[in-house]
Amino acid sequence: MNSELLQKYAQLIVKVGANVQKGQKVRLTTEVDQAPLAVAITEECYKAGAAHVEVLWQCGKVKKLDYQYASTEVLGTVEKWEEEKGRQMVEDLPVRIFIESADPDVLNGISPDVISTVTKMRSSVMKKFRDQIDGKHQWVIAAAASPAWAKKVFPGVEEAEAVEKLWDAILSCVYLSEDADPEAIWTAHTEKMTEKANWLNEQQFTELRYKSSNGTDFSVQLIPGAKWSGARDFNHDNKVYYVPNLPTEEVFNSPMRGKCEGRLVSTKALSWSGQLIDEFIVDFKDGKVVDCQAKVGEETLKKMFAIDEGSSMLGEVALVPKESPINQSGLMFYNTLFDENACCHVAVGGGFGEVIEGYIDMTKEELFEKGINDSLIHVDFMVGSDDLDIVGIKEDGTEVPVFVNGTWA
Ligand code: ZN
Repeated sequence: MNSELLQKYAQLIVKVGANVQKGQKVRLTTEVDQAPLAVAITEECYKAGAAHVEVLWQCGKVKKLDYQYASTEVLGTVEKWEEEKGRQMVEDLPVRIFIESADPDVLNGISPDVISTVTKMRSSVMKKFRDQIDGKHQWVIAAAASPAWAKKVFPGVEEAEAVEKLWDAILSCVYLSEDADPEAIWTAHTEKMTEKANWLNEQQFTELRYKSSNGTDFSVQLIPGAKWSGARDFNHDNKVYYVPNLPTEEVFNSPMRGKCEGRLVSTKALSWSGQLIDEFIVDFKDGKVVDCQAKVGEETLKKMFAIDEGSSMLGEVALVPKESPINQSGLMFYNTLFDENACCHVAVGGGFGEVIEGYIDMTKEELFEKGINDSLIHVDFMVGSDDLDIVGIKEDGTEVPVFVNGTWA
């Protein structure tokens, strides 16, 4: 990766993704192996007028050692100063930038039980802070190539070459190249996705039905009036648009909590909490997961659905055509940010309050009443296939094709 292109990528993350404004504080979270990108992003943030950039360094290998040697009690405990930091975040509403580059298998060998217990202990304390900043700050998740991740995506390829190949894949998925004008490309891309979302909103579907030859046969009810959206999000605090995911190809909504039936068959592997889950089937009844089977990671999958009441119910439905550049790359990234933008998916766990009109003035409880699921987790899994058909049902029973053979009808 040459330094010019790296700087251009940092610019895309800061200007298009986070859309950092004059005077804003920024929190950048990144793995220790991404120092050059972190420096470039920090520089772009300051050039955009950021008041301060705070970098939070992480290291997957250290995290694994924590799990191997420290007690669950210690790892799950949120220290007073961390809570204080959470409170400060609610006050400051910093722009948050997350750079993902971790090895998808980093926590392999650690008991799923311990991971889910720690996740639960920490989330139950920190969730209130996240809830309070929801819709009121800008954030973005983007990716960077690390040796461990690159070797997973390109097995058998020599390390340095694998890293180069992964960088190429990442940049082409976000439409970045030496001669591209990223801001112009992204303006066109976000407009195209807004059009799709607008079409879905006009249709006012009450239900979606999924069918594929792989065994997927599923229906989900939608919340009346809940808005579909794609690519761009809005910070209600300072009225700034931003793009929370780079890449992004999905048009999404939160479905009616507890109202779905049937079987979903996964079409891509899922990496959750550093553990791999692959080739799985999930059965829903009365809106809840009632059974699941997986060739890889079944125990982890079961633990995930059992985290709390909401983790066995849907919080998201998202439509992604099979022409997405992520899908076209033919790569399995073992990273949700990419794999979820390759094809249609759903997520179990917390829903997005933002789909409800006027949500910013509503409480979590009011949104829950409206049908937005609540949970400590939100985990996407992929169900899009080359022959997936999705039909939208209107209130009067009219059926409208939404997806035919894995793409927009
Ligand atoms: Zn999604």
